[in-house]
Order: sequence, then structure tokens, then C-alpha cells
Amino acid sequence: MRVLIFGNETLRQKSEPIKNINEEIETLVSGMFDILEKHQGVGLAAIQIGMPKRLFITQIGKDIPRVFINPSVIETSGELADYEEGCLSLPGVWGHIARPKTVRLQAWNEKGKPFTMDADGILARVIQHECDHLDGTLFVDKLSALKRERLINKYEKLKKAKK
Ligand code: ZN
Repeated sequence: MRVLIFGNETLRQKSEPIKNINEEIETLVSGMFDILEKHQGVGLAAIQIGMPKRLFITQIGKDIPRVFINPSVIETSGELADYEEGCLSLPGVWGHIARPKTVRLQAWNEKGKPFTMDADGILARVIQHECDHLDGTLFVDKLSALKRERLINKYEKLKKAKK
């Protein structure tokens, strides 16, 4: 398993709901946590490793590792927060994005147990970023055309320099 990077069309795919939360999903989740740890990321969606399933994980600082299956955002705050955002699929670049400060969502965990949660701070941010991945949206899509172009140029330069 490896992380797909910007330009790979699979990242633009809309992920499908998971019908059975079984051992296969548990194995996928555990592999995703290994990747997240290796890249020192805070969140990873299954589509980023080429699996078009509505599933993402988070691991933010000292917070517990979290699994979200078939998540749906029920409510977001009217108040927005501006924060610098990055993505494992666009390594090396960050952009300021305004998103709702808090979010309430419903999802299932890896044991098939449904839960509803309210998130704020970085967790709310990561949840929204990862939910976007499930619909084929990347954080750069949220930037103004000019900022997006600059960020992508910077990213392409970095990529070339690494080769
Ligand atoms: Zn991402």
C-alpha cells in the first residue's frame, strides 16, 4: 500500500459506501494506520491508497486513533476558522483554508458500531478534509484560482527537485 499523489485520477473518484464492516475492513484500517504513522500524518482516507470506500482514519497528537466508516456530516457551525492545511497526497505544500469551526457527524467504527460525535479544533478540520476525499475533492480545490495555481506550481517544482 502506498499513498496516491496529486495528479492520480483515482483521487478524484467518489468513494462507495461500505456494506459489510468485516475482517477485510479491519485489515484495511490497520494497514492505513501503519501508513499514517510512517508519513506522520493526522488523517488518511481509503481512496488515498486506491480503495474507493467511504472510510477514513485520524490520529491527531495525543488523541486516540479514530476510524470513521460511511461518515455523514449532520451539522456544521456557521462560524468559520482559518487554518493551514496539508495533505499526504500533496506532500510539501500547505494552504490556508476557511472551514466551519465545529462539525457534528455520524459514522460507524471498525467494529460496526454507529456513533455520533461533535468535533472542534484540528479534529473538526481533519474530519472535513477527509470527508472531502470521499467525494473526490482535494483541499486545493477550496483555494482561489490564483492561490491554487501558485500552490500547484510550487508542488510541481518540489516534485521535480526530488527526482
Ligand atoms: Zn488529504
